[in-house]
Amino acid sequence: MSKYYPVIGLEIHCQLATKTKMFCGCEVEVNTSPNKHVCPVCLGFPGAMPVPNKKAVEYAIRLGLALHCEIDLNAMWTRKNYFYPDLPKGYQITQTGGLPIYDHPICRNGWLEIKRADGVVRRIGITRIHMEEDAGKLVHDMSPTGSHFDANRCGTPLCEIVTEPDIRSPEEAVLTFKKIKQILEYTGVSHANMENGNIRCDGNISIRPSEDAPYGTRAEIKNLNSFTNLEKALTAEYLLQTVTLDAGKEVQQCTKRYDPNADKTSVIRSKEDAPDYKYFPEPDMVRLVTDPAFVEEIRRTLPELPDARYARFLNDFKLTEYDAQVLTDDIKVSNWFDAAAKTCKNPKILANWVITELLREVKELEGGFDAIKVVPEQLSRLVNLIEEGTINGKIAKQVFADMFETGKDPDTIVKEKGLVQITDTAAIEKTVMEVVEKNAAQFAEFKAGKVALKGFFVGQVMKCSGGKANPKIVNQILDKLAQG
Ligand SMILES: [Zn+2]
Repeated sequence: MSKYYPVIGLEIHCQLATKTKMFCGCEVEVNTSPNKHVCPVCLGFPGAMPVPNKKAVEYAIRLGLALHCEIDLNAMWTRKNYFYPDLPKGYQITQTGGLPIYDHPICRNGWLEIKRADGVVRRIGITRIHMEEDAGKLVHDMSPTGSHFDANRCGTPLCEIVTEPDIRSPEEAVLTFKKIKQILEYTGVSHANMENGNIRCDGNISIRPSEDAPYGTRAEIKNLNSFTNLEKALTAEYLLQTVTLDAGKEVQQCTKRYDPNADKTSVIRSKEDAPDYKYFPEPDMVRLVTDPAFVEEIRRTLPELPDARYARFLNDFKLTEYDAQVLTDDIKVSNWFDAAAKTCKNPKILANWVITELLREVKELEGGFDAIKVVPEQLSRLVNLIEEGTINGKIAKQVFADMFETGKDPDTIVKEKGLVQITDTAAIEKTVMEVVEKNAAQFAEFKAGKVALKGFFVGQVMKCSGGKANPKIVNQILDKLAQG
């Protein structure tokens, strides 16, 4: 098999987190009764006039600024005509155009950065972000009446993010999709929940014989709605195109779907061209003229973004790159840690507790991260109790298990269970001497230079003290005895 180089681009649709629809006042609500939120505008009755949702425009601009885009202050709406049973209007209002004069999406020419597992940072261009409305939904069931139509989703605001074909492997495609999802969550522009269909990804891929050869013919794979499926679908299509070219055949431009069970892509339709949609400027709308002051206000109130937070965690808290990565990936975990770190004497130790203890317990917890009873200040307090020498690390794990289960304050648990660390040197010395007497033979060997036995003695003393002895003092006493 010859070696080919993949060229990949992504198109990501995300549902904006507005309360109401793109061009009418109908509420956006999922998991409700069918056809509850509809009106003449979103059903496309003749004569009904659409009015753009200001919040949706604000969100699109916020997303554009977070992705370093230029904002078009004179954007345009176009009508994309097509027939489909889930689209009563027979067209979709969008910002793509067919002809360049009609093509004025709200955002253009941005970029984001991804960091590969090998440490290489790559910049991926964002061609454009445009706004549009969603179609309705067909619901198929096994009843004699068959298929049903639910118009609740008609007119829901979407942004489509289109990347440049800058992605060079399925791994980079996954990192790009993850980064976009993360930015959607950090900016609050979308709930970006894949299970609810808030975010959907299409991937296009072509291959070429060398890294500077012209692009090959591409296939577009629709609806890759998990990171795993995106990676597997692109890999399967890469192999298929490789086999095709090796056999002396040509790759056909087409739209495909991916079947995860068979791990195969298959053709849905040969690629449609822009003329098929008969785009024209939307006659019911004027241009979307945006006040520059509105854009500046959004820029000024942009929240901290993932890359900036990652850098802050490295610099301010001295976290390792791995820890900073884990603690910025998911905004909920990140905000939780950040809140805890504010009152913590040792954020680096706190990071360990969040990653190894808290996130491990959360995996087993019904309801996931949202269901945890421990609040950030409590874990911060637990770490401070260790730092202050009130309890040792081993006892802290016991306290943590209790906190996680009950949501009680660490101070209360320590007090109730009498877990305060013993730091009284005389008391510890007494325990050490008891242990030494009981294990006279081993102690003789230890004194004679068998250093490995120190661990045994520390263990025994800790056991006798119910885990409460300060391990540092125990070590000091044993060192003294060995020398003396
Ligand atoms: Zn409506």
